[in-house]
Amino acid sequence: MPLIDTHCHLDDPAFDGDREEVLARARMASVEALVIPSVTLERIPVALALAERHPGIYVAAGIHPHAASTFSSAALAQLREWARHPRVVAIGEIGLDFYRDLSPREAQREAFRAQLELAGELGLPVIIHQREARDAVMEELERWVASGSGARGILHAFSGDTAMARTAVAWGFVLGIGGPITYPRAEALREAVQAVGASALVLETDAPYLPPQPYRGRRNEPAYLRLIAEALARVLGLSLEHIAEQTSRNAQRIFRFKGFEG
Ligand SMILES: [Zn+2]
Repeated sequence: MPLIDTHCHLDDPAFDGDREEVLARARMASVEALVIPSVTLERIPVALALAERHPGIYVAAGIHPHAASTFSSAALAQLREWARHPRVVAIGEIGLDFYRDLSPREAQREAFRAQLELAGELGLPVIIHQREARDAVMEELERWVASGSGARGILHAFSGDTAMARTAVAWGFVLGIGGPITYPRAEALREAVQAVGASALVLETDAPYLPPQPYRGRRNEPAYLRLIAEALARVLGLSLEHIAEQTSRNAQRIFRFKGFEG
């Protein structure tokens, strides 16, 4: 019953002390593949080095909206280079974050748009980060989807409502479901998830962030993906096996992993 963690910052310094043990626990918990989304250009080779050492590890190459002020045409050229690596399966994580506003909003928009175009050019899916920027992100995605064919991707840590979920799914996106599905107050999220159903969902931990309920306030890790899968099974009234199989198939449809049989 393989599970796929579609969003795990395994390259994060939070794992420097025990990364091999974390990976061993993930494997024990049936996590057979995971995708490391990058946040800065500098972290991409670190993630790729991990992917080269371990089967089942894949990388998304991109510049996070927090780091959008580091985006430039040289950065874009470098991204295009990394994106040709056989273990790179997506452009991400990219998007807009108007909550923390760590880069100017105009710079965020520009970096987001250029990276969407790069994904289109390379035929890769995107991993989208969005916080307090729903309308702006949907505007950019709508334009991207209209501009070509084959647009696909993940709305990571989905936090929108049912209407947004339905629109994104109609555009070829799936929703990334993580720790928040286990939180007592996540009623709107559970409703959105029920509205779109299992065929539109993938699992993610976002480790070391966003741990599921029993581990809140502590470091998250990919082994906890199983708790997220169990919570999702309860929300949808389906078996854990069904959730595992369906979400793995969805992840495979988005990322088209080579050499993974899950
Ligand atoms: Zn992330």
